Amino acid sequence: MDVIYLVVHCSESPKGRDDSAADIHRWHKQRGWDGIGYHKVIRRDGSKENGRPEFWVGAHVQGSNTVSLGVCLIGTAHFTKEQYQSLYEVMMDWTTRYPYAHVVGHYDKDKGKTCPNFDVVKWWQQAKDNEGVV
Ligand SMILES: [Zn+2]
Repeated sequence: MDVIYLVVHCSESPKGRDDSAADIHRWHKQRGWDGIGYHKVIRRDGSKENGRPEFWVGAHVQGSNTVSLGVCLIGTAHFTKEQYQSLYEVMMDWTTRYPYAHVVGHYDKDKGKTCPNFDVVKWWQQAKDNEGVV
């Protein structure tokens, strides 16, 4: 797959509920999909879980699934320091292996969305400058 976009999402889990990749897998199967649509999930404590393998086209961003990978932060808008640190690590890994890919938010690729509810492009620039937590 030619990866052009590395897309950040959130799970919209209410009130800090600590959903997992397995929960999302179940929800997405209930929608009739082939299981979890994201490639990575980052829990509230910062732990990283695998979703789809990277060679398998995701189901997370309308119109760009065949040229992107997706990572989902558990939560709605206020993510933990540990989550941002793990997101940085995932993006460092992905941008090393896919050097031509752009780090974006879901809303950048689908104008009807606000997901993941923070400025991903700005965050990534600052995270790179600071080598992690911003
Ligand atoms: Zn999203």
